Amino acid sequence: MLPTGIFSQSMIAGLAMAACIAILGLGTPTAALADDDHGHPANPWTAESAIQALKEGNERVVNGSPTHPNSTLELKKKLAAEGQFPLAIVLSCSDSRAPVENIFDLGFGDIFSVRVAGAVPGVDELGSIEYAVDHLGVPVIMVLAHTQCGAVTAAVGGGEVPGNLGALLKQLSPIAKLVEQLPEDKRVEAAIATSSIYFRDHLTQLSPVIDEAVKTNHVKIISGVYDISTGVVHFDD
Ligand SMILES: [Zn+2]
Repeated sequence: MLPTGIFSQSMIAGLAMAACIAILGLGTPTAALADDDHGHPANPWTAESAIQALKEGNERVVNGSPTHPNSTLELKKKLAAEGQFPLAIVLSCSDSRAPVENIFDLGFGDIFSVRVAGAVPGVDELGSIEYAVDHLGVPVIMVLAHTQCGAVTAAVGGGEVPGNLGALLKQLSPIAKLVEQLPEDKRVEAAIATSSIYFRDHLTQLSPVIDEAVKTNHVKIISGVYDISTGVVHFDD
């Protein structure tokens, strides 16, 4: 006779696993394991082709000739049936003036988007990035700041902010500190330009998973600043 306690525990574990797979869009457990020698899925994009797609897409937008690709019902059905292989993970701000797919003239299945005020890589954001690196084989992480960012402006302004927003803004305090010697009217712009580079350079310190993926050439981290007025993405070198 089966020990009912253990049996029900394994049932719960199975249900939990099925729920995780469904939520994360893995399809089947083996889908996540179909990969190269290092445990990263075989995403058809390379870092080079992905960065080129981002740059060309933004150029189309800036030139006034976006093609609004990858938005058909047929593609949605294909992505649902076969799974996703996004070309880039973009960590960017929640600001409504900076919608990522529109910025790069891309569509469904193209961007693994992680959006949070100030584009700060907190625990949840890092976990999301780690998932896309390890389970979707995404070859590029882009940290994308934007002009006139309210979160960065608030962090530079200093002062106590109550609640969870205060906790979020604290993650921008190292950047505010880096610009505090500048003239007051230059600080926000400098902090925004600094934030994308600062977070780009700190992702590997914040996440051993990302660090390992960078060291084994499975992912490349880039950064830039989006100008909400002109639509131009300035890619950092
Ligand atoms: Zn912002």
